[in-house]
Amino acid sequence: MTFTLAIVGRPNVGKSTLFNRLVGRRLALVDDQPGVTRDLREGDAKLFDMRFTVIDTAGLEDVTDDSLQGRMRRLTERAVELADVCLFVVDGRTGLTATDEVFADILRRKNARVMLAVNKAEGKAGDAGAIEAWSLGLGEPIRISAEHGEGMDDLYHALRPLNAEFAERAEADAPLVDVDIPEEEAEEEVDPEAYRPTLAKPLQIAVIGRPNAGKSTLINKIIGEDRLLTGPEAGITRDAISVKSDWLGTPVRIFDTAGMRKKARISDKLEKLSVADGLRAVRFAEVVVVLLDVEIPFEQQDLRIADFAETEGRAVVVAVNKWDLEDEKQEKLAELREMFERLLPQLRGAPLVTVSARTGRGLDRLNAAILRAHDIWNRRIPTARLNTWLSAMTEAHPPPAPGGRRIKLRYMTQVKTRPPGFIVMCSHPDQMQDSYKRYLVNGLRDHFDMPGTPIRLTLRGQG
Ligand code: GDP
Ligand code: GDP
Repeated sequence: MTFTLAIVGRPNVGKSTLFNRLVGRRLALVDDQPGVTRDLREGDAKLFDMRFTVIDTAGLEDVTDDSLQGRMRRLTERAVELADVCLFVVDGRTGLTATDEVFADILRRKNARVMLAVNKAEGKAGDAGAIEAWSLGLGEPIRISAEHGEGMDDLYHALRPLNAEFAERAEADAPLVDVDIPEEEAEEEVDPEAYRPTLAKPLQIAVIGRPNAGKSTLINKIIGEDRLLTGPEAGITRDAISVKSDWLGTPVRIFDTAGMRKKARISDKLEKLSVADGLRAVRFAEVVVVLLDVEIPFEQQDLRIADFAETEGRAVVVAVNKWDLEDEKQEKLAELREMFERLLPQLRGAPLVTVSARTGRGLDRLNAAILRAHDIWNRRIPTARLNTWLSAMTEAHPPPAPGGRRIKLRYMTQVKTRPPGFIVMCSHPDQMQDSYKRYLVNGLRDHFDMPGTPIRLTLRGQG
């Protein structure tokens, strides 16, 4: 479990700059930008080895002056309610202003847990501002420069107790804890551009979901005018229709299960056939987009198909369609997340993207999520890194010792990709508990950043 940090403060103090620094490219890869509200941005932040969620209240520059205060105030209050801690940012160069006091007041009244940051403090420029900021009575100001990346270590240290607190809560909730393993090398950032050109052939996507979820609308929106209907390919069943297109610079081949379903409807065996057709499409796809209708999400049929995609070892992206119909976006998103976790635990960490096939909103994020899922699905981890990780994991939590003899995990290697498959050589593989296997799989997921992809882990005896 991670905590949520809200960046608050008056306009122009550098909130967006800080948000962007913490989130980097990851924003494009998570789901929730329009989901939150138009004015609150949310992203997955990373600060050294610490990960958390960050909410930014910036983006109000374009509103007129007289409405600014009221809106900014409401937005800040909203952010405070959503967050576990607020980072109150002031500008170390201009010094405190009356507006800063207004924000400090909101935070005090809301009884928020607050940390104070003095931004634009690169060099000596923030000295005076940092001293002055003490007068807000919000504790010791953390001097940072969002633009130049200074003071991030101090911010990290200030957030550590909170991080530990949440890790403890997670430990209390889960039978097994996450292990903090030192990184031997900097983790690579996910950059869609980096692997886009290396796709030798079109990325194969299946869009599946219950009738009326909006599959046809989505596919039409994606292929736009470039529509190129192709006939059945070798290996694909005769009723599968695939469409080849260029989607935001990525060559894709989309399996149009909606087309199949419409065919099925003619033969009047609607529900049954549409599921079967969906399942068939899964087999040909690399990435499966499970398209949900926001008004009836996670129906039995959706769950079945998503589960099938996981069993078949496909990368899965869940897209919630008709997001334009939703008024309470924030609440709905939280509810969807909760349902996702509860109903599809086997897809832990898979992206949940909100889209509107009708307006096209969110399709860029869907594209990014698909590319990322595909990349993870193809990932290969060097054996040396795996084994360093494995020893840290077994040291933190030794494997079970059935009948007093501890199972020894000796060596580990990745034997396949698409999806990633691993073999662990060990003594008495048959006596290994499922919970320990889950511990390893979840650990792999977290440490090597492979959310949402099916991971296969096989235990092998030696000899
Ligand atoms: P927001 O309105 O609070 O989101 O502020 P922005 O992130 O848009 O930043 C406002 C201005 O301050 C921009 O021109 C930034 O380039 C500048 N800025 C942000 N952080 C720093 C910093 O650390 N040092 C300096 N000198 N300028 C900064
Ligand atoms: P399919 O059966 O999954 O192919 O679904 P369709 O694409 O035929 O869409 C079913 C209905 O939902 C149609 O009336 C669409 O216009 C509507 N629809 C699809 N996407 C959206 C959306 O993003 N927002 C809204 N409001 N309606 C949508």
